[in-house]
Amino acid sequence: MPKNIVVIPGDGIGKEITDAAVDVLKKIDKKYGIDLTFSFYDAGGTAYDKFGVPLPDDTLNAAKAADAVLFGAVGGDKWDNVEPQLRPERAILGLRKGLGLYANLRPVQTMDELIDYSPLRPDIVRGTDVLIVRELIGGIYFGDKCEREEYNGTIRAWDLENYSIPEVERIVELAMQAALKRKGSVTSVDKSNVLATSRLWRKTAAKVAEKYPEVKLDHMYVDNCAMQLAIKPTRFDVIVTGNLFGDILSDEAAVLGGSIGLMPSASIGEKTSLYEPIHGSAPDIAGKGIANPLGTILSAALLLRYSLDASAAADDIESAVKKTLSDGYRTADLFSAGSKKVDTAGMTEAVLANIK
Ligand code: ATP
Ligand code: MG
Repeated sequence: MPKNIVVIPGDGIGKEITDAAVDVLKKIDKKYGIDLTFSFYDAGGTAYDKFGVPLPDDTLNAAKAADAVLFGAVGGDKWDNVEPQLRPERAILGLRKGLGLYANLRPVQTMDELIDYSPLRPDIVRGTDVLIVRELIGGIYFGDKCEREEYNGTIRAWDLENYSIPEVERIVELAMQAALKRKGSVTSVDKSNVLATSRLWRKTAAKVAEKYPEVKLDHMYVDNCAMQLAIKPTRFDVIVTGNLFGDILSDEAAVLGGSIGLMPSASIGEKTSLYEPIHGSAPDIAGKGIANPLGTILSAALLLRYSLDASAAADDIESAVKKTLSDGYRTADLFSAGSKKVDTAGMTEAVLANIK
């Protein structure tokens, strides 16, 4: 049975980087015989310009029916004045909701070749290999919200955080499973000294962990975790946390990897999962052919690993990327003296050449 990959390039550099990743997937498909087919759909500002909506039904339906979705990026100042419900960013929110993408996975590795791009000292970041697992469709971002005038004449606003046991169980299970294939340790991050949701989170995580005696679970407060990521990132294997804490910690952790152009992500759904680089549509460099395609190429590797159970093919892409970087190839975002400067096409060619 062919595996249907829905590709949603989106806006800005989205097309350039998803084209690069599709080229890599095609070569991998030839080598491993996975039998991939690709279909392309619009979303974001591009879809708004054509159809008047950022996420056309056609796109969402195709994504729902796909074996996996490869997403580029959406947004750009061109659509700054569009009304809020029709903004390009609505496309990714609609996909999260429509596909039930409950977990966002962000692997962060500090490669030796790129150690100088880290803002932290090499002896601190060397060997960093963390997987952040963030709950994506619950918590404070999706709880009741209110802004209203109080009796004493001031305006007050609130956002309610709530989590249920099944929501926490599902995400912690996923973190445990991931840890089994990694270094076997999970850090569950919360703020249980002040928050009721965090106390439920901690209790539930501990309960789930009883089923995984091979995995070492520890708990950490989010403020301490933020600090530990900067002073001893190598102490972490898998970090699992809620939506708000995960949003903040995953951006903090991304810095450890060097350039945002390099960082992939996977959003795991009940049925279909979605893969995208962590960076945005980079309108400032769109159309110039100089974007770093590696974040998207590495997202394609995650797609193979998590949606198609093709880990050998995923490992192959990841090794090809590492080899390309250690051979000295660099796009403009990572360029430094002594390296070989390439554009998007040149970087993609170099990766393809390393898939033998
Ligand atoms: P969003 O709101 O969509 O997350 P953003 O405003 O946070 O977008 P990005 O689009 O991620 O920003 O871009 C931030 C900066 O990083 C820009 O200067 C952009 O050119 C650069 N950048 C982002 N992605 C890449 C890439 N793949 N290659 C090279 N540079 C990139
Ligand atoms: Mg951003």
